[in-house]
Amino acid sequence: MRLEGKTALVTGAGTGIGAAIARRLIADGARVCLVGRRQSALAHTLQELPDGKAITHDADVSDADAVAGAVRTAVEFGDGRLDIVVNNAGIGPVGTIEDCDLAEWDQALAVNLTGPMLVTRAAIPHLRRGGGAVVNISSVAGRRAFPSLAAYCVSKAGLIMLTQQAAVDFGADGIRFNAVCPGWIRTPMSEQDMQAVIEIHGGDVDSAFALVSRDTPLQRVADPSEIAAVVAFLASDDASFVSGEVMAADGGSTLLDVSTLAFYDRAAALT
Ligand code: NAD
Repeated sequence: MRLEGKTALVTGAGTGIGAAIARRLIADGARVCLVGRRQSALAHTLQELPDGKAITHDADVSDADAVAGAVRTAVEFGDGRLDIVVNNAGIGPVGTIEDCDLAEWDQALAVNLTGPMLVTRAAIPHLRRGGGAVVNISSVAGRRAFPSLAAYCVSKAGLIMLTQQAAVDFGADGIRFNAVCPGWIRTPMSEQDMQAVIEIHGGDVDSAFALVSRDTPLQRVADPSEIAAVVAFLASDDASFVSGEVMAADGGSTLLDVSTLAFYDRAAALT
């Protein structure tokens, strides 16, 4: 119960990784304000959580007024305190810089980059009272370019620098900022992404996940709970001297240079 007595705000908490983070923070003792666009998804997550440990607030993270309202709800729920913010909400429109729709580009930056800035900015006055922690969910795509995913990669790379910039600017206030870069995690978003793999290679969602993880060190995709565990660590006092860190949780996938794949068969033949 290392988060006993703490209050957290988690964005995009109605599904996937965000819902898993909410579950894990509560299991570790925190109270959680679940924030997201869709009330129905938030309500679905809420109903499986223990009574009194969570509350929902529907807000679009790219809307500054809506975000301020969500932070107010979290602080009231926490009896005046907010200790942890997890910026998890995200979207991933497809396209190169030549062919992506400009409105989708703007939207990706608004949700994936400006959203975390707005949520964090509204939360800082509360976080600095007790030495708070912010965890931003970036992506391996924030560190490695991904074919035809320009807005997503650029916004997630920006989120890494937002994390480090804030770690510098608010370290003296005792607030820690860290980023997590997940690899493939099985969620509604990644299942949707697998449709492109299926179009190229055939098969189904399971075989697509097997294919995208085949050449990675751990050779599998992950469950959202595996990202939630990393977030719970970074949000807790166990990580009291960790700030500005960009932590991969990707089964080792970003360790590899693509040119090394040409050596895989030889390595297998030698063993
Ligand atoms: P998901 O689509 O299940 O969850 C994203 C959540 O964000 C949804 O509940 C959605 O309603 C919410 N959301 C979207 N736009 C919003 C907005 N404007 N305001 C408030 N909420 C909004 O996807 P997920 O896979 O659970 O993704 C969670 C985070 O993890 C995202 O930031 C994503 O980029 C990141 N990520 C996911 C993977 C993966 O493989 N699933 C890998 C790397 C990073």
